[in-house]
Amino acid sequence: MKKTYILFTCFILFTCNIISAQQTNNIPGDIIVMLHSNNEVDEFVASMQTVGGIKTSFKTTRILSQSMHIALFKFDIATINENIMLNAVKRNPLVLLAQFNFTAKERIAPNDPNYTNGNMWDMNNTGQNSGVNDADIDAPEAWDITTGGLTAQGDTIVVAVVDGGFDLTQQDLNFWKNRNEIPGNGIDDDGNGYIDDVKGWDVATSTDNIISASHGTHVCGTVGARGNNGIGVTGVNWNVRIMPIMYGSAQDADVVVAYSYAMDNRRLYNQTNGQKGAFVVSTNSSFGIDLAQASTHPLWCAMYDSLGSVGILSACATANANYNVDTQGDIPTACASNWMISVTNTTRTDAKNSSCGYGLTTIDLGAPGTTITSSLPGNTYGTMSGTSMATPHVAGCVALMYSVQCSQFIANYKTNPGAVALMVKDSLLNATDPNLDLNNITVSGGRLNLFKSVKSIQNYCATVDVSDIETKDSNFGIMNIYPNPTENSLTVVYNSYQNVEIIFTDLLGQQIKKITDHANTKGIQHSYIDVNGMAKGIYFVSLRSQDKISNVMKVTIQ
Ligand code: CA
Ligand code: CA
Ligand code: CA
Repeated sequence: MKKTYILFTCFILFTCNIISAQQTNNIPGDIIVMLHSNNEVDEFVASMQTVGGIKTSFKTTRILSQSMHIALFKFDIATINENIMLNAVKRNPLVLLAQFNFTAKERIAPNDPNYTNGNMWDMNNTGQNSGVNDADIDAPEAWDITTGGLTAQGDTIVVAVVDGGFDLTQQDLNFWKNRNEIPGNGIDDDGNGYIDDVKGWDVATSTDNIISASHGTHVCGTVGARGNNGIGVTGVNWNVRIMPIMYGSAQDADVVVAYSYAMDNRRLYNQTNGQKGAFVVSTNSSFGIDLAQASTHPLWCAMYDSLGSVGILSACATANANYNVDTQGDIPTACASNWMISVTNTTRTDAKNSSCGYGLTTIDLGAPGTTITSSLPGNTYGTMSGTSMATPHVAGCVALMYSVQCSQFIANYKTNPGAVALMVKDSLLNATDPNLDLNNITVSGGRLNLFKSVKSIQNYCATVDVSDIETKDSNFGIMNIYPNPTENSLTVVYNSYQNVEIIFTDLLGQQIKKITDHANTKGIQHSYIDVNGMAKGIYFVSLRSQDKISNVMKVTIQ
């Protein structure tokens, strides 16, 4: 495979930083500083007016502690990168300690009764009811990062659930409404191609007359029942909009119409810059045809590529029967689309449920699907089992990933929705927990992990965490990395000591590659790195020598 490279900016050379997730809740332009003495505030402010020739507009905001010589300062983030600014402050000889100013977030476990009483083992499994500790999707850990709802750019995130019916009055559910459509006037007011579609779409009647049904209402609760409202259950997302689409008689023709409704609304959103349509990021399909071949259903399968092209991933439930989908088929989970995520069903002991499909090339991952507690019609709650219950954890996970507060990620998604959607799918599959039962019979070999999935998106926005180790060592650091265009290789140029390790880590901080180079002398070195066999994606490159860690550079292999 021919690879090309994009090299990103090097973060502050010759300071010793390690990479960590961006703490996105820091207040832009704020830096808190402890000085050696209160008398030095003016001198300090004067000395920070320019950094590397850039005007900073650095000024005192207020004294926080006279006795400890701590004050809050402000600078202009429009002129200088905040990490560069913080590093410069830390290097100032008048400074003892410096950090960004963060807003603390209340840490709360959701108070929904079916969560607090332990029924929702899928979200948090501590071994209750004969389960296995941590045989869950690590939901509470994920919720420390985000509980869903909006993107970093303020888009309202929508999951389209295609199912047999929905109780729109269920108190714990939060359904999407088409605010640009006037009901009952016989006109397609918003121009999305559907007349009077305020509440969603029913394929059978070509109206938005949504009828209540248990299965669809249960699926929706897993995707996004309101969390921490003291009622019922919590979804993977505490706050997400669900677009209800009824598939009618679920013939192939109906499925095409159902998916088109989600796709047309997302396309309209993309085309109108969010003024109309809906920011649908995933669809959930908990229905299908056992033992059916993709070759017989090319149009159904093609819908996933079409949905993918506008930025939508589709989570699909595989068969509720223990057979190999690779050889025996299933629709839709045998469809080959890259934008489809096929899901099988795991239990509270992290075993594959004995009544569900698998396939090394067709079935992507497992997710909890056995005795799942969720919402039911009439403001009731109860358990259901099947791949139908596993799949909404995945559709919901995709939505939660888009709610991570990483503006660059959303900006890239809007520019290139299909490609970023694929990156999200890859991140989700790479973030699964390895599972012995799923090993060699699924693509990822693992069970969904919500925390690691959202963490991988947080790491997409990773920056140097300047609060970590800093050595101010001018003799050690990466100076440049450049690709060798005719080969799958990179050259790393660095200033080093003897015996340097060059470390590649992925977005999750996992070490992917380590090269030990034995430089004979101190000084500028060139190391040639073969990247054959490395997956496409973003990597962070740093040096280690003895106990020192260098600056970090970001490299994209594509
Ligand atoms: Ca309409
Ligand atoms: Ca209308
Ligand atoms: Ca609730």
